[in-house]
Amino acid sequence: MNPIDDIFQLLEERGQTSYFGEPVSQLDHALQCAHYAIEECASNELIAAALLHDVGHLLSEEGDDSADQGTDALHEELGQQWLSKHFGPAVTRPIALHVAAKRYLCATDQTYLARLSPASLKSLRAQGGAMNAEQVASFESEEFADDAIRLRRLDDLAKIQGKNVPPLPSYRATLESVLMSPLRDVNLTRNST
Ligand code: FE
Repeated sequence: MNPIDDIFQLLEERGQTSYFGEPVSQLDHALQCAHYAIEECASNELIAAALLHDVGHLLSEEGDDSADQGTDALHEELGQQWLSKHFGPAVTRPIALHVAAKRYLCATDQTYLARLSPASLKSLRAQGGAMNAEQVASFESEEFADDAIRLRRLDDLAKIQGKNVPPLPSYRATLESVLMSPLRDVNLTRNST
């Protein structure tokens, strides 16, 4: 099966659930996040990362109340593992680091913490809270730290109830353009002849 079809099926079938206390569904959140990435002229890799940054939530059995219970399902690592079969590090590393980016921003940007939604503040505790100085230095040494921070800021915007954004199928070409699989080579060959 085409991996894009697998991804779309996961988002459509499991993305109707609410996004952890926010006024949008998981699918709405993903679509809004990708839309904001396009609006700021992000690379195709970062647009793909924005669309797919929370697939780990859809893959896991965690409940809507995992933050209430003080647990963290590590959805960012689950997402990276699942997606790395098909996408390279420019897509998967910002995803893997987007929770760390939140903890980084809480430690380094005084205005960031004040703007977090109540649900995001609640999950921050389960995620380990703001980084300490050593963790900040380690995060800054990551190759895709800047993209992870950019993704995090898009993630925080993408919670607007009823916002009208382009639908999932409009992202097929963007995802195909950053696939590592033979499907991409087939399409590239087809397009160049
Ligand atoms: Fe998110």
